Amino acid sequence: MPELPEVETTLRALRVVGRTILSVRGVDYLPTIAPWGLEAFQEALRGRRVEQARRRGKYLLFLLDRSLALAIHLRMSGRLLQLPGRTDPDPHTRLILELDDGSSLVLRDPRKFARAGLLQEPELQALEAALGPEPLDLCRNPVAWKARLLAHPRRRLKALLMDQRFVAGVGNIYADEALHRAHLHPLRRVGTLSDTEAIRLGEALGAVLREAIAAEGTTLEDGAYRFGDGQSGRFALRLRVYRRAGKPCTACGTPIARILVSARSSYFCPKCQPLL
Ligand SMILES: [Zn+2]
Repeated sequence: MPELPEVETTLRALRVVGRTILSVRGVDYLPTIAPWGLEAFQEALRGRRVEQARRRGKYLLFLLDRSLALAIHLRMSGRLLQLPGRTDPDPHTRLILELDDGSSLVLRDPRKFARAGLLQEPELQALEAALGPEPLDLCRNPVAWKARLLAHPRRRLKALLMDQRFVAGVGNIYADEALHRAHLHPLRRVGTLSDTEAIRLGEALGAVLREAIAAEGTTLEDGAYRFGDGQSGRFALRLRVYRRAGKPCTACGTPIARILVSARSSYFCPKCQPLL
């Protein structure tokens, strides 16, 4: 959390392309700035123009003039807002970029896991090359999806979906939701899937990601995820299993179960998603 739909929504709400960064306020020290040192980081960004803003997996990538990129990863609880005017930092503010249209890009993160870093072209290429394909693209092509999935017969479904080298951008929420829609247990091994099940999982993953983007992501009760100038996503109301342990399955009424997979909670319906 935030995952692909939240990062995509965050990106779409920003109006930064063509803007110049006037000043950088590193309110709190972001660990990944360390190789630069905070002052060099601020100096490198000051006066640069944003030429392109895009998402890759869970990364926000801002391509700047003179071949430098700013990469931001929100990790567990970060949010990137664009506020009108200048803003004073609150206790959770980690970074403020003041733009030439008068707005401010503000990175807030109560838990301090968010990361921001400056990348030269080869570093940006390496970062992107280490990530798997974008699931929205891959899932549009059932043949390519199935081939990529079935190349990992020993892997368990939940862990594989969340592996950023397999596909980039899926985390706990959307892996659980896709598996429920596809009627597949999180601990099933890829090698046990029929062709139909493999295809169904790709369709379910693509559908849940598209629907979550349309609903502008999932803002849970903790309110951690926000976008734009502080809006909430609406997909939480449509979650079928995630964080619904003990509540009835939307398909069959069986109480949703929770198990630990790779030290993270996994939610599933024991009836709709049998382990076999
Ligand atoms: Zn069920």
